[in-house]
Amino acid sequence: MSANALSSEAADLVIIGGGLWGLSIAWHYARLDVGRVMVLERNLLASAATSRAAALLTRARAKTALMPLIAQTYADITALEGESGEALDLHQVGSLHIAASEARQQELRELVAIAE
Ligand SMILES: Cc1cc2nc3c(=O)[nH]c(=O)nc-3n(C[C@H](O)[C@H](O)[C@H](O)COP(=O)(O)OP(=O)(O)OC[C@H]3O[C@@H](n4cnc5c(N)ncnc54)[C@H](O)[C@@H]3O)c2cc1C
Repeated sequence: MSANALSSEAADLVIIGGGLWGLSIAWHYARLDVGRVMVLERNLLASAATSRAAALLTRARAKTALMPLIAQTYADITALEGESGEALDLHQVGSLHIAASEARQQELRELVAIAE
């Protein structure tokens, strides 16, 4: 990309990195009508960690800070399907967690408490 294209006239908001986070932030800002939003990606969009994810959207997380983000992801999927008119093929199937040690059992008990 030329230096000219990166001038302040080219975009009102520049986001570096076109993975899940960069693209999500770009989409949310674009919907707020903040002006021209530009995503700079040095490779292909969503070609790094994002393309490797298993796409599990487990709602209960030991890292509780992730839980509102997961809830937002479900809301975003519904919004994206509405805006694009295309199904995103979300499968809501639940998950099975197995503990093979006492420590892991305790972790799962704590996860259940968080989920509740
Ligand atoms: C094997 C695996 C399985 C996973 N499974 C799950 C799962 O089931 N559920 C879940 O929620 N999460 C999962 N994750 C985690 C999830 O993939 C990541 O949290 C998420 O993709 C991170 O997105 P990101 O945008 O931060 O990073 P990335 O997808 O890595 O995107 C960053 C982008 O920034 C670009 N970039 C970096 N520096 C620059 C620069 N200077 N200029 C231009 N571009 C730049 C990179 O090229 C890249 O495309 C998994 C991860 C892995 C590896």
